[in-house]
Amino acid sequence: MLNVRTIEEMRAAVNAARTHGATIGFVPTMGFLHDGHLSLIDEARAAGATFIVVSIFVNPLQFAPNEDFERYPRDEARDTELLEGRNVDLLFLPPVAAMYPAGASTIVKAGDVAAPLEGERRPGHFDGVATIVLKLFNIVQPDIAAFGRKDAQQCAVIARMVRDLDLPLTLLLGETVRESDGLAKSSRNSYLSADERKRAPALHRALRAGEEALRHGIEDVAAVEQLMRKMIAETDGVDVDYLALVDPETFLAPLDRRREVILAGAVRVGKTRLIDNIVVPRGTPPGID
Ligand code: AMP
Repeated sequence: MLNVRTIEEMRAAVNAARTHGATIGFVPTMGFLHDGHLSLIDEARAAGATFIVVSIFVNPLQFAPNEDFERYPRDEARDTELLEGRNVDLLFLPPVAAMYPAGASTIVKAGDVAAPLEGERRPGHFDGVATIVLKLFNIVQPDIAAFGRKDAQQCAVIARMVRDLDLPLTLLLGETVRESDGLAKSSRNSYLSADERKRAPALHRALRAGEEALRHGIEDVAAVEQLMRKMIAETDGVDVDYLALVDPETFLAPLDRRREVILAGAVRVGKTRLIDNIVVPRGTPPGID
């Protein structure tokens, strides 16, 4: 695996692979890798990528000053070993100064889908995400880029950007990889104490309860959200940030009851903020009456 830290080397390596006929697959991450990240590598390969690039960059632009940028977990040696085990071709590890040299000030404004839920609680977060993802796309120039549905609103923001800005690549959205008790794998799970770790699956349980209600024909948005809150309340020490039933494109309350919906939630367990979601397919697929 090539280990590259400069934009120039990155471009040269991808250009060389492309002249040999490679299809470039790209998985952007913030590192401290787990099976969720690794599954995206497999998905990109299964979709036809023959040269896999993974980036590890903890992007300061998507963290607010009161958030966990400084203490975000980092372990380059372990990540390198995991990626080598997955036969990744190139690991891009740019320093902050390479991505944001002095004077860098142009920012991508994420579309309307960035406004509710995560966007409301983390102002500027999705602009930071859209900016770094567009920069990485411009540097790597992938044919295929893979993102996890665990960050469902982020997927919607990026899908919108790809369409709105005519980016020449195919997006792959990978399923959420979970622990055996349902907790979605996340680098931030490493913040949890043993006691907090036991409480954390309450979020997934609540989303499953919402899914069950939908399957039983409960359509009232407020009723489904209330039911999920009740489920969380059964576990001490888990505080709801939001629990919502939303449309997968707008992340607002669903208007069309025949389309699939997303149950999305964010909770705090101690000082750790966790997010998760479930997609619930319903009735007629979009476009069919
Ligand atoms: P992160 O390092 O948290 O920025 O995540 C990098 C990529 O991995 C993003 O596209 C995430 O959505 C995806 N990802 C994170 N956790 C999971 C998971 N549990 N299952 C699948 N994909 C994930």
